[in-house]
Amino acid sequence: MRRKLVVGNWKMNGTRTENASLLSEVLRACEAVTALPADIAVCAPAPYLAQCQQLLAASPVAWGAQDVSAHASGAYTGEVSAAMLSDFACRYVIVGHSERRAYHGESNELVAQKVQHALGAGLTPIVCVGETLAQFEAGQAQAVIGAQLEVVLQAALEAGRRLGGLAALVLAYEPVWAIGTGKTATPQIAQDVHAFLRGKLAERDTLAADKVQILYGGSVKPDNARELFAMPDIDGALVGGAALKAADFMAIVGAAG
Ligand code: PEP
Repeated sequence: MRRKLVVGNWKMNGTRTENASLLSEVLRACEAVTALPADIAVCAPAPYLAQCQQLLAASPVAWGAQDVSAHASGAYTGEVSAAMLSDFACRYVIVGHSERRAYHGESNELVAQKVQHALGAGLTPIVCVGETLAQFEAGQAQAVIGAQLEVVLQAALEAGRRLGGLAALVLAYEPVWAIGTGKTATPQIAQDVHAFLRGKLAERDTLAADKVQILYGGSVKPDNARELFAMPDIDGALVGGAALKAADFMAIVGAAG
């Protein structure tokens, strides 16, 4: 039985003061229950990772970054390496988010390189895949997502079993048309894609396919989380907007119970 995982993607939001108040509310809510129904993490902007480490170190809430460089080190102004993220004890890093793919031209191959660096530094990459509205309407969702995933699976296998192979990944299905739009994929649409992704994992490694958490992302809110989480292949959520309000974020976590 896979444990659910709920990850907040803060995107480019927050200040030191706002983060402190958001995290203290999240921690208070965690302390109020005897057992959390899901693993929890927040993916913060890079300048706030030290703050996350300081505030969350002794807590059940893990933290991570929203992107990582495809290079190990060197003359790459503005980039943040996987080793640097490890220095701040990040557990997770989001890789291949649709906003990175769309606004920064990230190709499937670049995403795969990032996954290799993340794995090499002991981070768990949360690999995002998803189709645009036009691709969805043209019935191309599985072809697009399959191509996005294929390169990453190859890279993870090349990174080697020593680094956990496919089992070291978390996947996130994020239909681009559902991100920040208020439109959610129906639980059945999401389940079908999640089952497709798990099938692709199983073609390579059945044990890993059973273990890998596949998150859904795209306008997840307290009022739709429970029906999404009820689907057999939806193992949690990658949450954008609703992760900026502690009450909403923790209500989504609660829906995993
Ligand atoms: C996201 O940014 O990964 C996301 C799913 O955003 P939202 O929940 O706001 O749609």
